[in-house]
Amino acid sequence: MTPDKDATAVNIATDGTVRTRFAPSPTGHLHLGNVRTAVFAWAYARRLGGKFILRIEDTDLARSTDEYKQGILRDMAWLGLDYDEGPFYQMERMPRYRAALQQLLDQGKAYRCYMSSAELDALRAEQLARGEKPRYDGRWRPEQAAGRTPPAGVDPVIRFRNPDAGIVAWDDAVKGRIEFANAELDDLVLARPDGTPMYNFCVVVDDIDMRITHVIRGDDHVNNTPRQINLFRALGAALPVFGHTPTVLGTDGEKLSKRHGAVSLYQYAEDGYLPETMLNFLARLGWAHGDAEVFTRAELIAWFDLKGISESAARFNGEKLAWLNAEHIKRADEGRLGELLAPFLRATGCDPNEGPAPSQVAALYRERAATLAEMAESAHYLYHAPEVPEPLRAQHLSAAGLRVLQALQPRLAAIDWRKEAIGAVLKAFAAEQGIKLPQVMMPLRVALSGSASTPAVDAVLAVLGRERTLERLAAIA
Ligand code: GLU
Repeated sequence: MTPDKDATAVNIATDGTVRTRFAPSPTGHLHLGNVRTAVFAWAYARRLGGKFILRIEDTDLARSTDEYKQGILRDMAWLGLDYDEGPFYQMERMPRYRAALQQLLDQGKAYRCYMSSAELDALRAEQLARGEKPRYDGRWRPEQAAGRTPPAGVDPVIRFRNPDAGIVAWDDAVKGRIEFANAELDDLVLARPDGTPMYNFCVVVDDIDMRITHVIRGDDHVNNTPRQINLFRALGAALPVFGHTPTVLGTDGEKLSKRHGAVSLYQYAEDGYLPETMLNFLARLGWAHGDAEVFTRAELIAWFDLKGISESAARFNGEKLAWLNAEHIKRADEGRLGELLAPFLRATGCDPNEGPAPSQVAALYRERAATLAEMAESAHYLYHAPEVPEPLRAQHLSAAGLRVLQALQPRLAAIDWRKEAIGAVLKAFAAEQGIKLPQVMMPLRVALSGSASTPAVDAVLAVLGRERTLERLAAIA
């Protein structure tokens, strides 16, 4: 079989269903870069009516924590990346990996290597001295070790008997044709001396058992793929399609890191970004559908295609993210926006039971806020009487301003408390007094909010409520 044909053989589940997976390691909070890859894998499965599988790669015991595992589940739920199978935990699959290792040993496709780390270091030093690339020299391959007695007291690693010749090639769904010469690939260690299986091996056994048809993952794994392809073949499995997504960079072209702003997804949830904003934003990091910038989850699913993934690195842009959030806030259903806002109000000491309903606050501020946190901060005066800063008091609450506020109280007390009626009273009052509208609005705005800039005064009063409005006016004028 030519490598070409072999490389493009596809492990489509027998019923033709596309099966993708997200396989995070719980060694930190989900990073925008890896969640972006999850979004692609999820959207592809959803687009094609396939299955999306969550697999937690928790074999790095020293760095994996329960907190990070829970964080992955929480973040996936928040973003709406629902999965059809899993979460599977690699640590629960150890017997299966051991059985697969035994299968390879029995078939002569893997072997025990007794080389000590001191020997390996010496070999490496010699190779470097000769100007060669350091690599394992195959000295415990069965054909070379025949007749040799394993040294006493050395626990062997298990190595894969990598093919010597030929190339490993695949047509990457994102990057196109990629080829590696087998001569470049070492005999990979599949299990440590204590028997624990290594990362590249577990991934392949899992992808086979979970009948993954499309492995969509970050391009930091490109170098693992030829080794994994050889393992798929050794285990007698057809290959999935591989698609390696480009790295996410910061605006300055450096790998995305804390220097560019928050990098963990949950930080954005805590800062008051909407899940639909993040889904939209992450999808646009390296994928495009024409010039669509603001889109819904349903649109993403309808449009997503691996062909739309760019080969070049995506750049994170925090300003664009803030803009996008403002756009999604404008489009969100008011009731839902209120529910999302409520915890932010509480966090700033505003009790929704002791003031306007969060949905009303959301309606009042949806055109003006980039985040829910910002919205809650702006809305503080709706729950607590403000301190009016001295300069604003001097400017707007002088004798003339206070007279306006006094005169308005009985009129406001008498009307039906709706925005239209409030607006009409304020206008009628200005006309009757022969003063300009701002001479009415500004004292009112400053007295009630402690600020010179709020949404329209009639709308603010309507949300603040008659009782609070009159109480605050009475206290001031
Ligand atoms: N656990 C790996 C990671 O977090 C992903 C492996 C894969 O997708 O094949 O980078």
